[in-house]
Amino acid sequence: MALDSLGRPLRDLRISVTDRCNFRCTYCMPREIFGRDFEFLRRDELLTFEEVARLARLFVQLGVEKIRLTGGEPLLRRDLERLVQMLSRIGGLQDLTLTTNGSLLTREKARALKEAGLNRITISLDSLNDEVFRAMNDVDFPVGRVLDAIEAAADAGLWPIKVDCVVKRGVNERSIVDMARHFRGSGHILRFIEYMDVGTTNGWRMADVVAGREIIDTIRREWPIEPLQPNYFGEVAERWRYVDGAGEVGVIMSVTQPFCGTCTRARLSAEGRLYLCLFASEGHDLRTRLRRDAGDEEILDAIRAVWRRRDDRYSEIRSEQTAGLPKVEMSHIGG
Ligand code: SAM
Ligand code: SF4
Ligand code: SF4
Repeated sequence: MALDSLGRPLRDLRISVTDRCNFRCTYCMPREIFGRDFEFLRRDELLTFEEVARLARLFVQLGVEKIRLTGGEPLLRRDLERLVQMLSRIGGLQDLTLTTNGSLLTREKARALKEAGLNRITISLDSLNDEVFRAMNDVDFPVGRVLDAIEAAADAGLWPIKVDCVVKRGVNERSIVDMARHFRGSGHILRFIEYMDVGTTNGWRMADVVAGREIIDTIRREWPIEPLQPNYFGEVAERWRYVDGAGEVGVIMSVTQPFCGTCTRARLSAEGRLYLCLFASEGHDLRTRLRRDAGDEEILDAIRAVWRRRDDRYSEIRSEQTAGLPKVEMSHIGG
């Protein structure tokens, strides 16, 4: 088992399959920066599915049990189900999941992903108010089509669905109760996420963060809830259940209650760089080794060496000093 310098095992791998997205969420890819002139990765820079699957197999040998596909928008990558199928055949992998904005998740796509071996899915949705949501995704995408995607995923058996909602002060905090009401009793798990200072382009200010405690208090004023125990070591969401049996709701408090001490996540960017933290400034190139036909042992050694040196704990040391550091963009490595 690979342990980093703070004793944390490598358990989860998030794989970004593209840095492109059809949304321009203001907190992630503001259109002033990610405009027509923005240079995304070229096709030949992206890892092929075969390259991703090979690295994934090696990561599983090092202790990874859970893989999440992300982006950018992962469903922009054509035939993603082919990659899902390749990954689902890796012995020892216990969980294979995907995070998407839902815009391209048709019934056929959801079925194809399920049949290819996808275990679960997370769909992002920031508001049920159409005007608010259209402004947040900044491409005028309607709420109704994301709700259709959630239904399509559920009908395909990707159950229960996690619905992730980033809360930004003055933008969608009024949506908290509406979202909770809508997903209570649906069997899906709604999770509110504190707005984070990822990347350097979203103009993050602490004043725009709605703390997880406040979110919980807002829900508690409407319905009695009680805390649940974590499902496993390193679970990021604090989980609560409705006392009346209408299911659970979670909050991810990366800003106000950091969980770096149990962070077992590595991130692989679409061009094959290994990032050790969501807020890292640099990744470690693995693609060059892949493309010069390095053997498995050499690549395993390289990953082990990088992980052993890992001492990242950005959220615990977030301060005035860390604010100005260079950081990779969220759309480059996924959430
Ligand atoms: N495009 C897909 C989607 O939106 O689900 C996958 C990639 S997206 C980067 C993954 C998650 O990161 C989404 O749920 C998104 O809301 C979240 N996210 C992006 N920027 C964020 C920020 N500044 N703070 C908190 N969460 C953020
Ligand atoms: Fe795209 Fe997801 Fe970022 Fe929104 S949060 S811009 S959907 S990558
Ligand atoms: Fe993990 Fe970095 Fe987030 Fe801390 S700040 S929980 S080390 S990704």
